[in-house]
Amino acid sequence: MTTSASLLPHIARMAGYLPGEQPLDSNTIKLNTNENPYPASPMVMARLRAAVGDGLRWYPDAGATGVRQRLSVLFDIPVEQFVIGNGSDELLNVAVRCFAGPGDTVAYATPSYPYYAKLIDLQAARSVTIEFDDDFGLPAGLADTDAVMTFVPNPNSPSGTAVSSASLADLAGKVPGILVIDEAYVDFSREGAIDLVQQHANVLVMRTLSKSFSLAGMRIGFCVGAPEVIAALWKVKEHYNVNTLSQVAAEAALDDIDWMRANAERIITTRERMTSSLRELGFHVWDSAANFVLARAANGVDAADLYACLRNCGILVRYYPDNPRLKDCLRISIGSDTEVDRLLDELRNLLS
Ligand code: PMP
Repeated sequence: MTTSASLLPHIARMAGYLPGEQPLDSNTIKLNTNENPYPASPMVMARLRAAVGDGLRWYPDAGATGVRQRLSVLFDIPVEQFVIGNGSDELLNVAVRCFAGPGDTVAYATPSYPYYAKLIDLQAARSVTIEFDDDFGLPAGLADTDAVMTFVPNPNSPSGTAVSSASLADLAGKVPGILVIDEAYVDFSREGAIDLVQQHANVLVMRTLSKSFSLAGMRIGFCVGAPEVIAALWKVKEHYNVNTLSQVAAEAALDDIDWMRANAERIITTRERMTSSLRELGFHVWDSAANFVLARAANGVDAADLYACLRNCGILVRYYPDNPRLKDCLRISIGSDTEVDRLLDELRNLLS
């Protein structure tokens, strides 16, 4: 029997997820995958150096106890309501495997995070997508599906827009199944929905240390929910999913939360400046509550050209050529002030 003959048909049919480009050249101004332009807390580096040693012979703590204890104190939610993942991507994956079987409906609004579709395909489940209006408010139809699971990224990617916690509470009461609120970018916004897990047993909130804590390379995410739902996720996750050094880094980062908050504030300030400058250059920019903006090029300006020219001069942004709704848009991560100045200078040159 050949490999292709034994490959499951739904896997054979699907295309793999295409992650954002990670250039090896460190001179690139990297504004394509929403990483933090500032370093993680110095406490992270110090503790990592101390942790690199003989202890790495042992498996990590399967429960990431130190990380969960810190999150429990931070959010005032019992420790058994948290599970830690190898990035929040792993937890999204685990959640879909827990709740969506072959043929089940999973719903979300589009355009949003393309990884959801891949996870649903992997389960041979069925994606039901509802188009966002141009203002990216929560579409009413999201509450009217037969979905076993509904995803809401808040703030949403690629739009950067956010909906209110009140509207999410309302949705949690209406959806027929699990509501996953994906808060990867929440530290750059003013509102989070973690408290909803205490009132709605069907709500899972996912967060990550990749963005606001500057730890994308360490792969640490966490999920909060009702104890019985979290217990299900524990059964499915790989037992030693978060490596020892990542746990050390996460603990240190959570011990220096002021560092993260100060960086998030700097990024918000740069975001507001970048938004006004892009608008002055003729772009339509949606109000962002994240560490990136979605900018639609003015009529007559080709976003594909802008993307290619920026790339040629060493600035990477995200362009979505295959999505008709986003063909005239660029998603641009908020870099340092110097990086953003370079971007704006290049765009000014290109557009003049
Ligand atoms: N959710 C959204 C909306 C994202 O954009 C990302 C980052 N690509 C993730 C989740 C996953 O983040 P991570 O796995 O780094 O925690």
